[in-house]
Amino acid sequence: MIKIAIQKSGRLYEDSIQLLKECGLSIDNAKGQLKAQVRNFPAEILYLRNSDIPNYVANGIADIAILGQNVVEEKEVNIHSLLALGFSKCRLSIATPNATSYSSVKDLEGKKIATSYPATLYSFLQKNNITADVHVINGSVEIAPSIGLADAICDLVSSGSTLFKNNLTERDIILNSEAHLYCNPQSYNDKNDLIEKLRFRMESVIRARNFSYVLFNIPNDKIDLASSILPGLKSPTIVPLIEEHWSSLHSVIEKANTWETIDELKKVGAQGILISKVSKMVV
Ligand code: ATP
Ligand code: MG
Repeated sequence: MIKIAIQKSGRLYEDSIQLLKECGLSIDNAKGQLKAQVRNFPAEILYLRNSDIPNYVANGIADIAILGQNVVEEKEVNIHSLLALGFSKCRLSIATPNATSYSSVKDLEGKKIATSYPATLYSFLQKNNITADVHVINGSVEIAPSIGLADAICDLVSSGSTLFKNNLTERDIILNSEAHLYCNPQSYNDKNDLIEKLRFRMESVIRARNFSYVLFNIPNDKIDLASSILPGLKSPTIVPLIEEHWSSLHSVIEKANTWETIDELKKVGAQGILISKVSKMVV
């Protein structure tokens, strides 16, 4: 039995639940529930506060967890990443009011900086030989400069719209973060089979998110040309059509290039192009 910690509500919650479900885990996630048994996998889900999870994993209360790198960095705990999950992408940045001049981190010398991430900020300041006055606040950090509480902030940014609304400009990125699957090192040894089983499922689901399945018809004398456009897993599958001199080609393509690939395939004579979703991809 493994214990999996996820955020009980907040930005990581939906994506974490969805990932676990796509990994085939059947979970009861009624609102307000703190613990749930997985019905078809020897696992229990613990719904916890994001900022508490690193310590729960470090001391073995939870064996694994879905967490942003930023919280793990902040808590300075000894837990290991098993997999980058590709969601909750953000960065921890220094921002100052639009009107202030800022040419380098040296401009933070002697300034007041508000943040919810003091440990990460201190180590950044130390690396840059800067002494500043760090104010720890737990929420609404972006309001600190306009109420006179700080000269700068150090906060998470994703689209930048919160900074924009508060007349702040992003100046320096301290770290980039995304959600990872983390584990307790001892649990990884003791429960390796189960943890690896889940990691493997997650990897297959995450990988599949970047690909689409493509199939189309093509005259036989254009197969080589069409194949050279497809960066598939190995090489495309070729199935002869009943109509003479024609084949159907099947492959996977990177989602990011779907439209470019379709354009190129059309140019070399592909017809009846179908693109469909890949839900799991095992290589
Ligand atoms: P909790 O309330 O559970 O203790 P929290 O208030 O830090 O934690 P959220 O604000 O829901 O939780 O953020 C959870 C995680 O989502 C962050 O730690 C970060 O990894 C990620 N994240 C992604 N984009 C952003 C963003 N723009 N602002 C804040 N967090 C973000
Ligand atoms: Mg919160």
